[in-house]
Amino acid sequence: MGAWQPVLLANVNRPNSEKIGTYLSHGGYEALRKALRMPPEDIIAEVKASGLRGRGGAGFPTGVKWGFLPKDAPVKYLAINTDEGEPGTFKDRLIVERDPHSILEGVIIAAYAVGAHRAFVYIRGEFFLGVKRWIKAISDAYQHGFLGPNILNSGFDLDVSVHRGAGAYICGEETAMLESLEGKRGVPRKKPPYPAQKGMWGKPTIVQNVETLANIPHIIKRGAAWHAGIGTEKSKGIKIFCVSGHVNRPGNYELPLGTPLRDVIYGYAGGVRMGRGIKAIIPGGASTPLITADKIATPMAFETLQAAGTALGTGAVVVMDETTDMVEVLRRITRFFVHESCGNCLPCRVGGHDMLEILERLTAGKGGRTDIEELEYLAKGIYGQTFCPMGTGMVEPVLSALRLFRSEFEQRVMHK
Ligand code: SF4
Repeated sequence: MGAWQPVLLANVNRPNSEKIGTYLSHGGYEALRKALRMPPEDIIAEVKASGLRGRGGAGFPTGVKWGFLPKDAPVKYLAINTDEGEPGTFKDRLIVERDPHSILEGVIIAAYAVGAHRAFVYIRGEFFLGVKRWIKAISDAYQHGFLGPNILNSGFDLDVSVHRGAGAYICGEETAMLESLEGKRGVPRKKPPYPAQKGMWGKPTIVQNVETLANIPHIIKRGAAWHAGIGTEKSKGIKIFCVSGHVNRPGNYELPLGTPLRDVIYGYAGGVRMGRGIKAIIPGGASTPLITADKIATPMAFETLQAAGTALGTGAVVVMDETTDMVEVLRRITRFFVHESCGNCLPCRVGGHDMLEILERLTAGKGGRTDIEELEYLAKGIYGQTFCPMGTGMVEPVLSALRLFRSEFEQRVMHK
C-alpha cells in the first residue's frame, strides 16, 4: 500500500484554505485559464477521455453526459448538487467548507464546455458554513474576473447563484433538486426526458455533483491520460471515501479507485475499535447492500463492488463490529428512509412504513413468527417498483441483511 498524495483534498488542511488568495497561491484558476484557450468541444473530449464518472452515486460518465446537451439550444443551465444527504457521506461538505474555489473552478470550466451562462448551486439547508463559504467564494470570484461578463477576456459570460434546500434527502435526486430549484415541492420527475434534454424550466441542464466538479480542473491541468492512468479499467481516477462507524480513525480518505476495502479500513481508518472483528460493512452509503468481512479484499470500484453484490454509491464506508445488533441497524436505516420518503408513490410511502412497523416490533421484542417473511415480502415488492431509485435504495440494506443475518432476526422472534 503506497502512500497516496492527495489531489482533491490537497488544500483542505492549509490555513485559510477557503480563501481565494490561498487557492491562487497554490495554482488555483490556472486550469481555467488553460480551458478558456481551448475550444469547448476539446474540453468535453478531454473529460470523456479521462474516464471520469459521476461521484454522486450513480457513476454516469461525465463527458458523455456533457455531450448529451443539444448544441443548438439557446439556453442551457448547469446545476451543482451540494445536497449531500446519504447517511455516512460527508465528503462534499468538506470540499465546500474548506476548498470551495476548487469546485467553482470546475463549475466555470464545465459551464464553458457545455455553453451554459447560468449556474445554480443547490446546497443542503443544514450546511450553514457551506452556504457562507459558497457565497463568499462566488463573490470573490466575481471580483477577480473569474465570473460575470467576459471572463478573463475570453468572451465567455457566467453567473452563479446559491440556493438553499430545506433539508429533504430526496432533493439530492437530480430531478427533485430541479423541482426545488424552481421553487416547487421537491419530488422526482419522470425520466426520460433526462435533465440534459429538459431540465430547469424545461431547458437542457447538466446536474453535477461537487466531488465530480472538483476533479475537472485537475483533468484540464494534468491531462486526460493522467486521470485515466489511475484506478481500474472501468473506474478511473480518485475517490474520496468517507469512513465511519466502528473504526479508530473515521474521516475522509482520498485514494485511487480500486484501492482494496481492507486498505481503506485497516491501512487508513486505523482498523476496528478494540481490535474486534467486523460483522458488516456498508460500502457506499445507506442505500447500498450490506456486505460481510469475507468481501474485504474487494477493490473499491464501480464494477468490482457490483460483482460483490453491492455498489460503490457515494463511497461512504460504514463499518460495524461483531457486537453490532443488525436488527437495530436495519430499524434505524429504514426509519431514515421512511422519514425521507417524498410520499409520491405507494410502494415507498406505504411499504416503507409497514417495514418500519415490523422492525420496531422486532427490536421491541414483540415480533411474531410471520414478521420476518412479511418484511422480506414487502422489501421484494418495493424493489424496482418505485417511481425513483430511493425506494429500491431503502430495501437494499433490508434484503441484504435478511440474506446475511437472518438468524439474528429469528433470534429476536424466538427469544424476544
Ligand atoms: Fe418519492 Fe416514490 Fe421516490 Fe419514495 S420512491 S422518494 S415515494 S418518488
